[in-house]
Amino acid sequence: MPVGRVIQNIGGFQTVLIEGGEVVTCTARGRLKRAQGEIVVGDLVSLTLGPEGAVIEAIEPRRNLLRRPLVANVDQAVLVFALRDPEPSLLVIDRFLVALRAAELPVLLCFNKLDLAGPEEGRELAEYYRRLGFAAVITSALTQEGRTGLLNHLYGHSSVFCGPSGVGKSALINMVKPGAELPTGEISPKLRRGRHTTRAARLIPLGRAGFVVDTPGYTQVELAGLERADLLRGFPEIAALADGCRYRSCAHLAEPGCAVKEAVNRGSIAAARYQHYCQFAAEIAVGKP
Ligand code: GDP
Ligand code: ZN
Repeated sequence: MPVGRVIQNIGGFQTVLIEGGEVVTCTARGRLKRAQGEIVVGDLVSLTLGPEGAVIEAIEPRRNLLRRPLVANVDQAVLVFALRDPEPSLLVIDRFLVALRAAELPVLLCFNKLDLAGPEEGRELAEYYRRLGFAAVITSALTQEGRTGLLNHLYGHSSVFCGPSGVGKSALINMVKPGAELPTGEISPKLRRGRHTTRAARLIPLGRAGFVVDTPGYTQVELAGLERADLLRGFPEIAALADGCRYRSCAHLAEPGCAVKEAVNRGSIAAARYQHYCQFAAEIAVGKP
């Protein structure tokens, strides 16, 4: 049975990219919805190709499901900030990092609008986060600088672009998409019309070796409801020192014998990072016993 990925889902028709690169328009077997629920863009599905057309028979188990946009099996967030216009805020960057890591999404940081800042500035910011253990690239959607570097990180993954508004997420999605449009031969005029009126996400195949979600994901984040373990995923340099604290339950806030506080005093953990950690810890503690 051929296996493929749902890249578009409109009006009861699914566009599926089959292993090997062929794109087919499908309908779902009637009992599928009752058995497995709705099909979502990003789903891996198995198909039968019969005289009645291509039919989706089963949905493979999902690794994850994002709600906004509704898309399954995303395995990377590209977290975009602008070097200028709007000016990046380290606090907001760290807040996004925590939220995305709490959702267990690997993060690629992308510092955009390089053309508006000096190259030194972009490199410095990228290096700062690379030292903390995050992948980072520098781009300009305007001049296309850094396009190859970004693409290298996208291939092999299904990526969603996140970050505040105005930083260039849409411009970057446009920069990386291979053609302006999906292969259109397989898509009926009816479906094409539908595409402009729907807000459902599509996956854009990148040379068959990866996908980007065509609409941005998180554009703001809320930390309420997170656990301390979630918080630490956004602060790998703090998590790495926790074993050295006197108390196993150390929250790295005001406890004596805290290896993290010592590292902050020594300067081996950035003071700004630690401040953000404390601020987020206070936020997620609100309303907790
Ligand atoms: P989004 O809200 O994150 O999707 O941001 P957009 O892609 O809509 O871009 C916001 C504004 O920034 C638009 O006016 C873009 O033309 C502009 N923009 C995006 N990328 C760049 C860039 O690399 N350099 C410059 N100078 N402007 C950019
Ligand atoms: Zn501690």
